Amino acid sequence: MNVLSGLSLEEIENIVLGLGGSKFRARQIHNWIYLKSVSSIDEMTDLSLKFRQELNSVAKVSDVKIKVKQVSNDGTIKYLLEYPDKQCVETVLMRFDNRANLTACVSSQVGCAVNCSFCATGKRGFIRNLDYKEIIEQVLTIQRDTGLKVTNIVFMGQGEPLLNLDNVLKAAHIFNESFQIGARRLTISTSGIIPGIEKLSDIDLQSTLAISLHAPNHNIRKQLMKIEEKYPMDKLHNALKNYIDKTGRRITIEYLLIKDLNDTAQSAKELGIYLKDLKCNINLIPYNPTEKNDYKRPDATSIMKFKYLLEHMGKKVTVRLERGADIDAACGQLRGRVLKAD
Ligand code: SAH
Ligand code: SF4
Repeated sequence: MNVLSGLSLEEIENIVLGLGGSKFRARQIHNWIYLKSVSSIDEMTDLSLKFRQELNSVAKVSDVKIKVKQVSNDGTIKYLLEYPDKQCVETVLMRFDNRANLTACVSSQVGCAVNCSFCATGKRGFIRNLDYKEIIEQVLTIQRDTGLKVTNIVFMGQGEPLLNLDNVLKAAHIFNESFQIGARRLTISTSGIIPGIEKLSDIDLQSTLAISLHAPNHNIRKQLMKIEEKYPMDKLHNALKNYIDKTGRRITIEYLLIKDLNDTAQSAKELGIYLKDLKCNINLIPYNPTEKNDYKRPDATSIMKFKYLLEHMGKKVTVRLERGADIDAACGQLRGRVLKAD
């Protein structure tokens, strides 16, 4: 049985031509899947009943189940999705009041091998990569369930996208071609996997690269992120400089603010120096509590002070709006499992 979600137009054509249908039929089916987000072949009302029956005998729209759906007070929706092998990941839909944008935060892996000290996903360890169709299914599920069209996609759910780059790039291509979401509306976030950044330097993707830096120097970063041992900040700096020079693109630096650990004036200054020659926007993320660690979120005054110090050094800085914390959908809170009540 073929699953239509995630197939390219050519792949849909192959199925349709096999049934004696035309390329035009294939285009209609393609649009039903990606632009009108139907859940079943029976909803493809401009196909003849007979053709729908034939198609039903060889294909279905999706094989992903919504296991849990939670809606936050701020309108953020978090889905726990289950794939046929019973593995689950989360995907989150965020709306920002001041914009018409609907942003999907997608997962690229089940679990994550990088295991950063502050992140709930890392605590699960690495389970498996998602293939590109499974990534695409996350956005289609959101569109089917809400009847809305996603406008922006961030690879900021579970997993390290640059450790599953081939599938992430294939998914990005289909978001672009089939969903008609421009590459500029896609952001790929990484903990700093240098070989992946080098690969991205050589292709003209036009999407935004976001780096989870989170520290102003090697010692603090090592405490927070084990990956610093393998890909230290000085080498990362070279890779980023090279990426910016080659692509001409501005990167985003994500910086998690943890009280008394990396939120001091000294840290802001060191960070400003590290970023001095890198064309970037800085996105400050006040720490969101997850289970089992002692980190604390700084108060609003410290956050503003940190922001001001960086702005004073000529950087453009935003503070990330927290979304969906009441349903554990905020950054770093995705666990990918059903939490049982104690
Ligand atoms: N693995 C990639 C993509 C996940 S993005 C990466 O790490 O970049 C998720 C973002 O949320 C990352 O910037 C991550 O560092 C951040 N994050 C993780 N745990 C967090 C927490 N407890 N509070 C706030 N942000 C967190
Ligand atoms: Fe993995 Fe990113 Fe979480 Fe680190 S922050 S454990 S890289 S998902």
